[in-house]
Parts: sequence; structure tokens; C-alpha cells
Amino acid sequence: MANAAQVQRMSRLMIKTLRDDPADAETASHKLLVRAGYVRRSSAGIWTWLPLGMKVLENVSRVVREEMDAIGGQEVLLPALLPKEPYETSGRWEEYGDLLFRLKDRKGADYLLGPTHEEIFTLTVKDQCTSYKDLPVILYQIQIKYRDEARPRSGVLRGREFHMKDSYSFDTTDEGLAQSYALHREAYQKIFERLGLDYRIVSAVSGAMGGSASEEFLAPAAAGEDTFVDCPACDYAANTEAVTVKVEPADGSAHAPVEELDTPDTPTIESLAEFLGVPASATLKNLLVKVDGEIVAVGVPGDREVDLGKLGEHLAPATVELVTAEDFTDRPELVRGYVGPQGLAGKAFRYIADPRVAPGTAWVTGANKEGKHARNVVVGRDFEVDDYLDVVVVEPGDPCPKCGTGLKIDRAIEIGHIFQLGRKYADAFELDVLGQNGKPTRVTMGSYGIGVSRAVAALAEQTHDEKGLCWPREVAPADVHVVAAGKAQQTELALAIGDRLGDAGLRVLVDDRAGVSPGVKFTDAELLGVPTIVVAGRRAGEGVVEVKDRRTGEREELTVEEAVARLSA
Ligand code: ATP
Ligand code: MG
Repeated sequence: MANAAQVQRMSRLMIKTLRDDPADAETASHKLLVRAGYVRRSSAGIWTWLPLGMKVLENVSRVVREEMDAIGGQEVLLPALLPKEPYETSGRWEEYGDLLFRLKDRKGADYLLGPTHEEIFTLTVKDQCTSYKDLPVILYQIQIKYRDEARPRSGVLRGREFHMKDSYSFDTTDEGLAQSYALHREAYQKIFERLGLDYRIVSAVSGAMGGSASEEFLAPAAAGEDTFVDCPACDYAANTEAVTVKVEPADGSAHAPVEELDTPDTPTIESLAEFLGVPASATLKNLLVKVDGEIVAVGVPGDREVDLGKLGEHLAPATVELVTAEDFTDRPELVRGYVGPQGLAGKAFRYIADPRVAPGTAWVTGANKEGKHARNVVVGRDFEVDDYLDVVVVEPGDPCPKCGTGLKIDRAIEIGHIFQLGRKYADAFELDVLGQNGKPTRVTMGSYGIGVSRAVAALAEQTHDEKGLCWPREVAPADVHVVAAGKAQQTELALAIGDRLGDAGLRVLVDDRAGVSPGVKFTDAELLGVPTIVVAGRRAGEGVVEVKDRRTGEREELTVEEAVARLSA
């Protein structure tokens, strides 16, 4: 008897494949998952998972569950519909702004649909754990999350409703937290390897979450919205926002003294470089910003751009704004277009510089006089830098901070993110347990996410070809797709071999649809992307089938016996 659950007949499967790409689809995963009948758009950024899509989603979830269980994670399920108060306590009711789906109940009380659950997990542990003996603990859930994304595009890659595995670790010591983090890091490596994803681990900057150590798992793909730098020579990889630059001090003693130059009509770097006949990289650009209202100058080589996002990350929680014309009115020392740090750094403004503006290097920069610039302005001799921060936009070819080789910049999809949160939420909710010394001990936390539905799309992005999807076996909706070319005898053979494979423990999809042309069935089989395709066709009468590898296209004619033996091995 065939294992009915393992053999799915397409004649009884709810599936409608499409010949054409959906009009609004830009990415391969969006097009193919819709065309192959895995998902269907319900409304903007909100998706219905159809039977085959559900199988892939479940397979990803199963791998995630197994590896989370293996590190001692305990599965729970928290509500998605949450009261406002805990998010007010943490400050995120405000911070999340428009990203949060907010609603009211019939009594007028405020609720939200959970975008991530640090607050509620903290409260759960506060309720359940009282002593150091109850810790460490790792809790996880696989749950639907809600974020009112500004641009829900790319199908399930970026949904407004999406599936996430989120886990949280609770420890009493920093070493404990480091251990829980390391366990997650290893579990994530196993998960993404098992799923068959090509991925990189990059150091990240932690945004709204707060906290210190943080790494992202990125799946390189052209459709990705993240950029990251990748060293072609060593293992260095980082989020473009987290790239560090080495400070290489130079010997500043040989430089001539500062010389003032008449440079009429040269308010821009380009006009100045042209006028003096020097490269833009020899000039020092001083961008004035206001940090919590105070003027700060940011010095970078003239050929580089300041990344205001990065600057903001470094200076958070302070707010960073650009200066306006009014900021110059009562400050004659600040000459618009001709600002230089000499004489002013540390006095008129705090001076932040990119590490390329290293001690001992000499620059052409503003002379703090209308129409004048100065040359041989040396760092450490003519002015001091208050803080070195990595604030310039990274460019391809920038040196790798580890080995010096020119970096590449690639696009990727963020599939996972791990954070050492520390005590931010434990402080907000006063999460203490009784310590070994009998005194209350503040708990320290980590939070760890995997985009489960996004991983399905990321896999589609990385593995598809021009014919369609091409799943790795672990996540594929079936192991074998048996196509009955059309005649009664062929269908009989297809069903028989399907049953045999099912008995052997394989998950089988049999295309036994009547009235569908063989050509359409073959095209659908390629589109659906099951790893092995078996065709009961021309030589069905002799008990011979064709076995084809979906990925490589290699095909072979085998007897039913041979095929069953080969595929169940
Ligand atoms: P992104 O930068 O892509 O918006 P994020 O950094 O805000 O993501 P996290 O808060 O770190 O996301 O969430 C954990 C994981 O959930 C992410 O690594 C990602 O894989 C997934 N994820 C986040 N937002 C979405 C979304 N809108 N649709 C699908 N998956 C998502
Ligand atoms: Mg993230």
C-alpha cells in the first residue's frame, strides 16, 4: 500500500500555473513563486500560501525548529495581537512610527500587531523565572509578524505580514550571553547550510534594537535590498554601514608650513581641485552638521561622500541635522564654503574625521577666509581630530581592513540577524532573578531572527534558472515529480512508480492530469522545480521511464526497477 500522504496527485491538487509573469513583479522569486502557484497576492505585501508553497514554508520551518531544539531552544507561541503598554515602556510605540500596525479594541484600548517581540518575551520570563537556577533559557517561536513597510515589493521577500522565527536568550552573566549568542550563530550556520542557501555572516550595526554585538546573515542575490562588502582575498565581509577603515599615521615632520592661497570662485571641491591642479583626494572637505543643536565639523577627503546614516548611527541617540544659512549668521569664524579645521577644531566646533584623515597627513582645505584656501595643513600639527569615525560611503576598491585587498560591493538579502541586546529590555521591565549571592541580579538578553518566509524567496532567487524554480531537496515540495505523458498506459505506469517511490519513503508528486498536453506538463514540471523529474512517456509500454535531474538537466532511460532503486538509494 502506498503511503497516501507521500504521493500527491496533481489531478487533486489545487494548483493553477500561469504562463505570464504578474505585471507588478520585478524579482525572479516574485514572478516564479506566483507563476508556479506557490503563493498568491492577497493585498499589498500580504500573501496567501497555497498548497505547494505551504510545503516549502513548512520545510524551512522544520529545519529551523530542529536546529533551535538542538541548542536547547524551547518553542512557545506568543500572541501577535499585543497591548500598547509594554511597547510604551520600551519606547518602541513611538520609535517604530509608521512601521507599526496599530488598532483599537471595542473599549478604545490601543493594540498593535507585533513587529518583533522583545517586550513580551521579557515579560514572559519575568513571570516564569525567579532564580538564577531557572536560567539560562532560550525561547523561540515561529510566528507571523506585522510591519507596515513603506515599499512592500518583491513578493514575499518583503511582506507587511511575514513569517519569522524569533528567539530570545536570557542569562545572568555577560559570559552566559556570549555563549547563547555563539550557540545561535552555530545553529544559524547549520540551518542555512541545510536549507542550501549561499550566505555570508557580516558584522552589522544595530539599529532600533540597541545593544552591542550584532551580525547579519546575508544571502547574496541581485534582488537583495542590502549591500555588503566582500573581500575577494580573505574572509572579511561586512554590511556597508559597518565597514571599518584603518588609521595609518604618516610622518608629518617633512611637510612645509601652512601656506594660504588665493582661490577666487572655488566654493566646491571640483572647482578648487581644478584651480589648484590637485586631485580631489588631496583636499579636505569639512561638512558642518548640528548634533543635538551643537555645530560639529566632519572632515573627509574631498573625493568621498559622508554617509549621514552612518554618522547618525555612530552618534545615536543624538540627532544629526545639516546646518542651514542661519547657523552662519552669528558666527563670523565660519566662512561658508571656506571652512578649515586649523584654528577652529576643538574650539568653534568638535571635529570628527574619517580615518583617512590620519595623523601626519597634509591637506588642502579652507583657510577660513572668503576666497582663500590653505595648503600643507597637517593633522596633529595644525589641528587635532576629536574623534575618528567611519563615516564615508564605502566604494568598490576600498582596502579591506583585514588584508588590504580592494573590496567588492555586492547585493544581498538579509535572511537572519543575531543581536547581543544586553540589559536594555531587562532594565526597562526590571527583569531580575535571585542571584547565587541571594541578591537580585539583572538579566541580560539576546534576540535572534530568521525570515522564514523570506528564506523561501531567497532560495528561489539563488537557485532558479530560466525555466523556473529549482529547489534544494531539503525544502522542495516533493522529492520526485512523475509526469504521465497522457496515454492511459503512461498514466498507469506513472501512478505505479509514484506508489513505489512513496513506499520507499520519498515524497512524490504525480502529474496524472487528464486533458493537459504533455508539453504543458513538462513546462510545469520545470517551473515547479522539484529536484527529480520522472517521465512515463514513449517507452512506457516497455516499463521504461526517463529520469531527469532538474538542476543539471542530465537524463537517463531506466526501467521502473532501476529507477526506484536509484531514487530511493
Ligand atoms: P530589513 O532590514 O530587511 O527591513 P530588519 O533588519 O528590519 O530587516 P529584523 O528586525 O532583523 O529585520 O528581523 C529579523 C529577520 O526577519 C530579518 O533578518 C529578515 O530576514 C526578516 N524580515 C524582516 N522584515 C521582513 C519583511 N518585511 N518581510 C519578510 N521578512 C522580513
Ligand atoms: Mg535586521
